[in-house]
Amino acid sequence: MHTSATNRQPDIPFVDLTAQYAGIAGEIDEAMGRVLRTSDFILGRDVECFEKEFARYCECEYGIGVDSGTSALELALRAYGVGPGDEAIVPANTFIATALAVSCTGATPVLVDIDPATYTLDVTRLEDSITSRTRAIIPVHLYGQPADMDPILDIAARRGLVVIEDACQAHGARYKGRRVGSLGHAAAFSFYPSKNLGACGDGGIVVTNDMDAAKSLQLLRNYGQTKKYHHQLCGYNRRLDSLQAAVLRIKLKYLDAWNDARRDRAEAYGRLLGDLVHAPAPAPYAEPVWHLYVIETNGTDRDGLQAHLGEHGISTGIHYPIPIHLQPAYRGLGYRSGSLPVTERVAGSILSLPMYPELPLSGVEQVADAVRAFVTARPRLERAV
Ligand SMILES: *Cc1c(COP(=O)(O)O)cnc(C)c1O
Repeated sequence: MHTSATNRQPDIPFVDLTAQYAGIAGEIDEAMGRVLRTSDFILGRDVECFEKEFARYCECEYGIGVDSGTSALELALRAYGVGPGDEAIVPANTFIATALAVSCTGATPVLVDIDPATYTLDVTRLEDSITSRTRAIIPVHLYGQPADMDPILDIAARRGLVVIEDACQAHGARYKGRRVGSLGHAAAFSFYPSKNLGACGDGGIVVTNDMDAAKSLQLLRNYGQTKKYHHQLCGYNRRLDSLQAAVLRIKLKYLDAWNDARRDRAEAYGRLLGDLVHAPAPAPYAEPVWHLYVIETNGTDRDGLQAHLGEHGISTGIHYPIPIHLQPAYRGLGYRSGSLPVTERVAGSILSLPMYPELPLSGVEQVADAVRAFVTARPRLERAV
């Protein structure tokens, strides 16, 4: 950790999970202890209760706990029969797991460029990407900002496509007043530790109002088993651990308050940075939950700014520096540089600032001061679009 002699301000991490734990340690330890004492480790009472509680939170009927967000996406696609020969549409600017989940089913991800205002799927490019093989659309509520679901659902209904929401960064966000997760056929959430709702390890869930899909998912995650040693299909071992479910049940009670705290920090950043950089502006339909606070440094050197912040003890991230279609893993899809211009441009100018509920507001000011010092000390480059 960096603290120079001239800079006596505290270092600011990108996220601080130890601060979160410190606030609820007694409850978490008690919940984990209870699972340990009862040895109710696999699909136990805590998994069942958490599935119900999280589904209710998402205004959904069913929740099926799984071992990660990637599994949640993959199994949701499988529950709707997506597989080899099929295509699924994925926004080009997302964590690569969205595309990997499609690949895991044997289907092919088709990448669509993003709306530069919201960083989510550009609905105007959607129809052109649909082919006779398209089976599914996976809108991603990236950075905690809901994708524009109504036009997506409308196109999907007309074309007979399945919509699986990737809500891995958007626990609790709302679209036109409704919770994300309740909008498509099914939705995938991740409980990776740094997500808005995070486990003490890996975890995920699929939520849905579709009873048939829920039944398939219960089989798919648990060896295709209807009852012990009776296997209806070739399933997987992708269950949510009871220990993680016990932790998540505690943390779910705090999620709304944590999301409110993120909103306060986003509001403060917006107020302090608005005239210096391109600050994120939520769409009118969106109630975001600020998983990430992503600015654009149009007119300023992004890598220089990131280095400057690092020198002042402020940790930042880039989500994501190399678009999926330019990753070696997806060379086979046949895209090249220039294929998805908005995503490619954005990858060079976005910067994620520290964002977590326990971030002191004085920390937000410290970050803003450091950004201001860098931006005002340098002549502006020609403004990009
Ligand atoms: C985190 C994340 C995933 C994958 O979740 P894991 O639990 O890490 O497998 C998928 N999509 C998005 C957008 C994510 O942020």
